[in-house]
Amino acid sequence: MITIDGSFGEGGGQILRTSLALSLITGKAFRIEKIRAGRRTPGLLRQHLTSVNAAAQVGNAQTSGASIGSTQLTFTPGKTKPGEYHFAIGTAGSTTLVLQTVLPALMIADGQSRLTLEGGTHNPFAPPFEFLEKAFLPLLKRMGAKVEAKLIHYGFYPAGGGKLEVTIHGNSKLAHMDLPERGDIKRRLAKAVLCHLPRNIAERELNIVQKKLSWPKKWHQVETPTNSVAPGNFVSLEVECEQLTEVFTGFGERTIAAEAVADQAALAARRYLASEAAVGEYLADQLLLPMALAGGGSFTTLPPSRHTTTNIEVIKKFLDVSISCQQANNRVWRIEVGQ
Ligand code: ATP
Repeated sequence: MITIDGSFGEGGGQILRTSLALSLITGKAFRIEKIRAGRRTPGLLRQHLTSVNAAAQVGNAQTSGASIGSTQLTFTPGKTKPGEYHFAIGTAGSTTLVLQTVLPALMIADGQSRLTLEGGTHNPFAPPFEFLEKAFLPLLKRMGAKVEAKLIHYGFYPAGGGKLEVTIHGNSKLAHMDLPERGDIKRRLAKAVLCHLPRNIAERELNIVQKKLSWPKKWHQVETPTNSVAPGNFVSLEVECEQLTEVFTGFGERTIAAEAVADQAALAARRYLASEAAVGEYLADQLLLPMALAGGGSFTTLPPSRHTTTNIEVIKKFLDVSISCQQANNRVWRIEVGQ
C-alpha cells in the first residue's frame, strides 16, 4: 500500500485528488494521513469527500475514513466502471475539482460515461468552467481524449446550485504533447459575467481591464445569464494563441470591490503575457497528470507553483516517470515528463 503524507508541500486537497485519480488508474491502494494539514480547516470538506465518494463509486473501491473532517483515508480500488453518474456536492464546493478526480480513469475506461456534477462552477481557488472548456479540455483533446463539458447552471459561493454535464467517450490512448511555445496571439477576450447583479459592475470591471492591459472595448463582452440560484460575478480573460488558449479569472465576492475582481484577473494575465511561457501557473499543475499517463510530454511555463512541485511528487509515488523542472530564463521554466 502506498503511503501519502497529506501535509507535504502545498498540504492541500490536490494531494488527495491526484492520489485518488492515480489509484483508480494503477489499481494501487493508498493510505493518506494528515489530509489538508496545510489548510486552516484541515481534513475532508464536502468537496473532498464528494471526490472520495465519486472515485469509490467509479472504481468500485473500499474506503475507510471517508467522512467529513477526517484527516486519514484508506482507498483500495477495484475495476473502473464507465457509465452514468450523478455527483452532488451539497455545497458550493467545486464541481470541476470533483471532475478532475475521476476524469483520467474514465477517459481510458472501456466505454462512455456521462456525468452530472452539482455544486460550484465558478469558485475561487478552483478551475472555473471557462478554464475547463477553453484551456484544459482542448489540450486533453489534442492528447487523444474525447470529453465534452456543458454548463447547465452557474454555481457561485456560498449558495452553489451549479450544474455541469460531462460526456467522456472512453477508450482514449493519450499521446505525448510538447508545448515549447504558445505561438502568436490570435484573439483576446475580456468577459464580465453577472448573474442577478447590476450591469455597472461589469462596466467598472472592464474599465480596469482596459486600464491594466490596454485591451480596447472591441475585445470586451458582458454576459448576464439568469441560470443561477443566487447572485454571482466573475471576470474571465481569454488569450487564444496558436498552440493553446489560456484563461485568467477574477472571482467576485460580496466584500470585494469590482475593481479588485478585475485586477486579480488582469494581474495574472499580465504576468503570463510578460513572459514567453506557453503554459500559465494553473494549466501547469493540471497538465502533469495526463502527460505522465501518456508516458511523456513537455511545456514551458512560469516559475512552478507549490501546487506543481507537490503534484510532481505525488505522481511519482504512483507512476514510474521522471519529471524535471529547469529554469530557462528569469520568467520561463521548462517542465519535461518522461519515462
Ligand atoms: P484545499 O487546498 O483547501 O484543499 P482545494 O481542494 O480547492 O483546496 P487545491 O489544493 O488548492 O485544492 O487545488 C486547486 C486546484 O485548482 C489546482 O489544480 C489549481 O491549478 C486549480 N486552480 C485554482 N485556481 C484556478 C484558476 N483561477 N484557474 C484555473 N485553475 C485554478
